Amino acid sequence: MSTYVQDFADGSMAQKDLLGGKGANLAEMTRLGLPVPPGFTITTDACRYYLRTGKVPTDLRVEVTQAIRRLEDTMNRRLGDFHEPLLVSVRSGAKFSMPGMMETVLNIGLNDASVQGLAEQAGDERFAWDSYRRLVQMFGKTVLGIEGDVFAEELDAAKTAAGATSDTDLDADDLRALTVRFKEIVREQTGRDFPQHPREQLDLAIVAVLESWNTERARLYRRRERIPHDIGTAVNVCTMVFGNLGERSGTGVAFTRDPATGQPGDYGDYLRNAQGEDVVAGIRNTLPLAALEEVDPDVYNELRGVMRRLEMHYRDLCDVEFTVEEGKLWMLQTRVGKRTAPAAFRIAAELEAEHLITLDEALMRVSGDQLSQLMFPQFDRKAAAKATLLTRAMAASPGAAVGRCVFDSQTAHDWAERGEDVILVRRETNPDDLQGMIAAVGVLTARGGKTSHAAVVARGMGLTCVVGAEALDVDPAARRMTVDTASGVVEVVEGDVVAIDGATGEVFLGAVPVVPSPVTTYLTDGVDAALADAGEGDAAESLQALVLAVDRLLRHADEARRLRVKANADTGEDAHRARALGAEGIGLARTEHMFLGERRVLVERIILARDDAERDAALAELLPLQRQDFTELLQEMDGLTSTIRLIDPPLHEFLPDLTELSVRVALAEERGESSPEHSHDLEVLAAVRRMHEANPMLGLRGVRLGLVVPGLFGLQIRAVCEAWADLRAKGKDPRPEIMVPLVASVMELHLVRDVATAIMAEVSAERGVRCEIPVGVMIELPRAALTAERIAEAADFFSFGTNDLTQTTWGFSRDDVEGAFFAQYTANGVLTVSPFESLDLRGVGRLLDIAVTDARAVKPNLPIGVCGEHGGDPESIHFFHTVGLDYVSCSPFRVPVARLEAGRAAISAVGHSDSR
Ligand code: ADP
Ligand code: MG
Ligand code: MG
Repeated sequence: MSTYVQDFADGSMAQKDLLGGKGANLAEMTRLGLPVPPGFTITTDACRYYLRTGKVPTDLRVEVTQAIRRLEDTMNRRLGDFHEPLLVSVRSGAKFSMPGMMETVLNIGLNDASVQGLAEQAGDERFAWDSYRRLVQMFGKTVLGIEGDVFAEELDAAKTAAGATSDTDLDADDLRALTVRFKEIVREQTGRDFPQHPREQLDLAIVAVLESWNTERARLYRRRERIPHDIGTAVNVCTMVFGNLGERSGTGVAFTRDPATGQPGDYGDYLRNAQGEDVVAGIRNTLPLAALEEVDPDVYNELRGVMRRLEMHYRDLCDVEFTVEEGKLWMLQTRVGKRTAPAAFRIAAELEAEHLITLDEALMRVSGDQLSQLMFPQFDRKAAAKATLLTRAMAASPGAAVGRCVFDSQTAHDWAERGEDVILVRRETNPDDLQGMIAAVGVLTARGGKTSHAAVVARGMGLTCVVGAEALDVDPAARRMTVDTASGVVEVVEGDVVAIDGATGEVFLGAVPVVPSPVTTYLTDGVDAALADAGEGDAAESLQALVLAVDRLLRHADEARRLRVKANADTGEDAHRARALGAEGIGLARTEHMFLGERRVLVERIILARDDAERDAALAELLPLQRQDFTELLQEMDGLTSTIRLIDPPLHEFLPDLTELSVRVALAEERGESSPEHSHDLEVLAAVRRMHEANPMLGLRGVRLGLVVPGLFGLQIRAVCEAWADLRAKGKDPRPEIMVPLVASVMELHLVRDVATAIMAEVSAERGVRCEIPVGVMIELPRAALTAERIAEAADFFSFGTNDLTQTTWGFSRDDVEGAFFAQYTANGVLTVSPFESLDLRGVGRLLDIAVTDARAVKPNLPIGVCGEHGGDPESIHFFHTVGLDYVSCSPFRVPVARLEAGRAAISAVGHSDSR
């Protein structure tokens, strides 16, 4: 029983680990009786042996000999024969496709003697020498390591000398001379002759393929694609068939559906009188597949039949590589093909409609990330190709934004107020830029990576963002930037229009037309609106097909999922949008923004209050405003729950900046001023100093603040209760819930509950209705998770605040660590992905698991959800499903993504398997 070699005829597609993708699929096609040239695969075991020891296994030589003998008998030809030589290709092929990363050598077995045999056998001398020169060229380059250009230049010289424009114009004599020249190059460059012995050629080519696994570019590719370095590649040895045997021969690549749009129908490129590499190398202009129909309708029909068969068999889009040798079709490769996001949706839904796959399978073949790509408005690609490209940087948050450049947040805000679309351009952003970011249609930064402040915040807001554009030199003081472009330095000043593409990282000078995404129209306004929106003509048809596909799969996800999907929304407006996108409630309504703007003075008065009366007066003034906020929110969410979080950040965040205020006070003192403003400033300054914290994130905030500042939480709770009562009186169905942030001890919760119970009793008495609003906790500290059993007893629900829980579990302050060292931590492998983007399952996930288990042990029906950015992250959602949560809550525009992923999570949890 052979260990390292397996004939195509003996394998199947189930053996991708052992045979690599190419080998397994060649075996599968052979098994299906499709026309595959006979051959065998040297297994990944051999490669792993080679990677370990630096040597090929000794058994391999013998096994290869046996396999070659079998091949010779099948073909009735001999390797190196003077009259009827067998030629083979040696092809790499790992489990995961690594296009263009590794090596392939064609026409192995040709030498000075067998080239005559090949000519005789084919009755075509030109063809034989063309094949030989290709071998020397390819072998020289990939096996002997000679610079490819050396051969290419020689080929060009030969063409010039012969007055030829294409290599097909070279005749047998030209090609013979070229081969001689190529062999000389080999001698000059390596100090040895081109190996004439076919077996030596074969063995050297096999080792070259094994070696190519570890080239720098292959390693880089694997790092980027997260392919393990130790799985190794297989090596396929395949009988040669010839596409370069004249005009009735050729070679091509084809897809069973359009991989860009998903449109059904074959699609591909064909090149007459050529060998495989020529198509991909783009040496000559290819013909569309339809041209093959004209040249050779029989072959074309056979190919279509094969493709149909493959699609049936793999039950998915396949791509193929094929060769036609004098009117005979040969299949050289197939695999389930890569595709764009729209194609993925369309193909999955249409295969289901054709009853080739089930709806569950169809849903598993698309992803939330793909759906989110479909939701952003897009630049018209044709127009973008003609626009002036300033630079290409990191795509941080998708979308297509066009606006006037501004270089500071205040200007962004002011210009936006007067109705301008602006792009905020900064070296990097920090929390002070939030106002500007909210005002802008896009954000562009010169520094920082995918986890930089700008990137994270923009993603959270669904704002188009490009970061790390190092070609930019931003000068905010001068309100301009210079850009180092390929065609010189370009100056861009405030007010100039730029366009940024958050999906590709491109930055253009001037406007680029944007096309709205019909998928977004579908998600907010329904199928009919989206279909109408798509317009007319061919493009419209494909957009409509896409909309229908998304509809079909998303509806199935909604049926399949157990997790409910809510949204994080702070205002009535956000709530409205969330509901349109399918949110089943608000999982987190923050109240901080309700203390900003004109209300800041009231907060100041609460803080500066000299006695209870003064503070109560300020609180009383806030009450109607808060009630109004909550009324708007609850009205939008009528019939659905809204979880309102009591105020969370430290109060001094609402006071003026310490430095600014100190300067003002100092200046006033120098001038000897003694105005009422000045004495007020002095008072505030004292308060700011008093309340200053070294680590505000870990200081007086959340429930701690509520317990220390009398009346603050009470005010909010009362506002919720009164808003509830008002709406009830109007016959509405408001469903607020009160959430207490940053609880570490059950005692904190008890204290807040006591306040809440008292207020609810008061409101019940005042309004004559029974006011009973659930009070729950945000679990966002490790201690809360670890004492969940106790906290659950006093809580009506749990909601994991995974942002703070991640910060406190890792001991990271997000704003500090992301800019400072996350890039390095990602580079050196401590982090593969930011724990703020995708939940850290081992650490934070374990805390969640403990908390859920312990809490449910005392309260089996305790509702538990998650709010925080992770609620919209696909991988995290699968975990939340598994751990048994009831719902996830995320930004409104992530709601559809979460719905889709929650459906996928439910399906994969019941052990769905895809046979591809
Ligand atoms: P890649 O993985 O880069 O696609 P392949 O091993 O598929 O490399 O080889 C590239 C091309 O070489 C193939 O598409 C095919 O056209 C050609 N080729 C490989 N083996 C043979 C063969 N036995 N006969 C004819 N052409 C071949
Ligand atoms: Mg290939
Ligand atoms: Mg928090």
